[in-house]
Amino acid sequence: RAKKKGKNKYTVYHSGMNMQSYRSFMLQNDLRKAIERQELEILFQPRVDTKTGKIVSAESLLRWNHPKWGMLFPNEFIPLAEETGIIVEIGEWVIRQVCEQLRNWMNIGKPLIGISINFSVQQFFQKNLIQNIKQILIETKVPPELIEVEVTESTFLKNEENSLLVLRELRSIGFQISLDDFGTGYSSLSYLRHFPFTALKIDKSFIQEMNVDPSLVSTIIKLGNSLKLSVVAEGVETAEQFKLLKNYNCDEVQGYLFSPPINLNELEALIATMNNDKTGAQTVEQINERII
Ligand code: C2E
Ligand code: MG
Ligand code: MG
Ligand code: MG
Repeated sequence: RAKKKGKNKYTVYHSGMNMQSYRSFMLQNDLRKAIERQELEILFQPRVDTKTGKIVSAESLLRWNHPKWGMLFPNEFIPLAEETGIIVEIGEWVIRQVCEQLRNWMNIGKPLIGISINFSVQQFFQKNLIQNIKQILIETKVPPELIEVEVTESTFLKNEENSLLVLRELRSIGFQISLDDFGTGYSSLSYLRHFPFTALKIDKSFIQEMNVDPSLVSTIIKLGNSLKLSVVAEGVETAEQFKLLKNYNCDEVQGYLFSPPINLNELEALIATMNNDKTGAQTVEQINERII
């Protein structure tokens, strides 16, 4: 039995498959229907300003509520979506959802925070990416500066030239651009200088090793600061880590210490408690003039 998989690609199911590849095979096929069946859900993890302690933005993190397998995490299904190319459709769905959410907050006059979106390399090869994104921005009337595009170094390894072009276009639209999982890839330093990044996200593996040796993290923060990049620490789990990061002038922190990824209602409630005096969030008046 052969199933069509992207352009000219086939996954063949056969009886000799082990449980893991059987599951991947099933999931890959189910994924095509996941959007229309409304099984995808975006959770949000707050990013906290180390100086004010307020939530300044949130990262959108995808979950798949599968009718048979329960809640699935991106590490399992994003690679499958990338393999088949369906990630392009899923990626665009995420962008639209995020923009509609921001529009909704603007409509009801909630204090606004930025939202970051993870991008896969395949999206950078989508022919109409920029055009479609502009269309979404025009329809939703969301100021692009509220949105941050998160990319990893592995995105560039595939095609540095194309990635640079697309990132420059995204930046010129007005999006923030962050380099995710910093420190886990290659050639980081040359990318930092030539790519239009506005922020650098230190990978959580470095934060976890801080109790052994914090010098690497403090050096990365200094590097980011000197390049005028906003520095974000990922995977902050302890008060000790937070204290050190604050002392090193890390700009923002994200991690279980503050909140795991949570749903929209929980995010709104958390913003209401943590940002009660509205510091760090922007008012509708402040951002209205910056709509494109
Ligand atoms: P990422 O962008 O590096 O996201 C951070 C991951 O770290 C998230 O895993 C988050 O739940 C987890 N995390 C946050 N705080 C802590 C902490 O204190 N300790 C630990 N141990 N982990 C923490 P998640 O949600 O499972 O997402 C995994 C990856 O999947 C993301 O890594 C991102 O690369 C990818 N991803 C998620 N959503 C999307 C999406 O919409 N599109 C694409 N293309 N990729 C996505
Ligand atoms: Mg990310
Ligand atoms: Mg990361
Ligand atoms: Mg990652």
